Amino acid sequence: MIYFDYNATAPVMREAREAWLNVTEKIAGNPSSMHHAGTKAAIALADARETLAAVLGCNPMDIVWTSGATEANNTVMHHFARKLAPTEPIFVSAIEHPCVDDSSRHYFGKRVRNIPVTREGVVDMDWLTTELADARPGLVAVMAANNETGIIQPWREILAICQAYEVPFFTDAVQFIGKMPCKGLGDCDYVSGAAHKFGGPRGVGFLKIPHRSHLTPLLLGGKQEGGRRAGTENVAIIAAMIAALEIREKQIARSEHLLRKVWRDNFEAQFLRVMPGATILGQNQPRLWNTVSALMPEGDRKSQWVIRLDKAGFAVSTGSACTTGKEEPSHVLSAMGFKAAHALRAVRFSAGWETSEPEWEALLKAILKVHGEMQQKG
Ligand code: PLP
Repeated sequence: MIYFDYNATAPVMREAREAWLNVTEKIAGNPSSMHHAGTKAAIALADARETLAAVLGCNPMDIVWTSGATEANNTVMHHFARKLAPTEPIFVSAIEHPCVDDSSRHYFGKRVRNIPVTREGVVDMDWLTTELADARPGLVAVMAANNETGIIQPWREILAICQAYEVPFFTDAVQFIGKMPCKGLGDCDYVSGAAHKFGGPRGVGFLKIPHRSHLTPLLLGGKQEGGRRAGTENVAIIAAMIAALEIREKQIARSEHLLRKVWRDNFEAQFLRVMPGATILGQNQPRLWNTVSALMPEGDRKSQWVIRLDKAGFAVSTGSACTTGKEEPSHVLSAMGFKAAHALRAVRFSAGWETSEPEWEALLKAILKVHGEMQQKG
């Protein structure tokens, strides 16, 4: 099986598995316990916090460990629902992951105003600038990179505008972290991440919050994480997450992703040449180096692509893992102005740090073969 679904989840790195095993075998205590075994666990947790803070560029105390990005993102919405005045609006981009979209609607209902995106899948900065001046929302939420299209959002510019208007800025950086240089992310007020998108285990992530600020916990109980998230921290999977992130940071610092982007770009050029009628979403926009989000030619159903490519030995996806299983156009493509008929032709190929150039070439051949088969069947 050749794996082209890293945006859904990435294989767990050897270094992450080793870190997990090491902590599991050597550190038996609860980080909240006063004895020696507990202190060892607390030190491991503090080390992990420092490493992550250095990567993001924030204070270690600004980090709250969570069970993943879904929890981190729900926590942000829950916190602001408690904090803001009952009439204050919030701005949420129209292309957020369902865990931001649904939780914002759950807590804020009609007070959510969606920030539109252009046909190219980028947040409409003119809209945002004008409306920010007018409405002064209590929060602005825009993801750093979109999971379905890989299109990178101008989060640095948005942060600057939010700072000018003194509006808190929250970015879901799940798809960005571990794929792109993280520098500057720590300046955003709220940042969420999930280990399994960058080679760590599933079921662990974090939320970065503003320095010395209060966070209304989503989970109540013990006083872990400075009272910001109850529940015994899973030190071993946190250590595994940080081990994976450190590897990714080194690889990014060596610019390995730039060569991988060339392989992806070559694939796209060939793909468009041999598949007339296909489109690549946001092709001319800054995008994650690993993602190709394509509208396949007319008449091809995306579900068939996934199934047929799976049979041919390639794991690909119709978009976000959370929206698969139902043949509905994704809200991301609708927000970009695509009609349902177009959006139903979207297939996502998301490579990773282990994908080789021959694997991209093999994928292209398999696509051509499947396309041929589909056409024969009419
Ligand atoms: N945000 C984005 C952009 C994602 O891609 C995902 C997962 O697909 C999540 C949040 C949710 O992460 P998790 O399922 O690990 O909680």
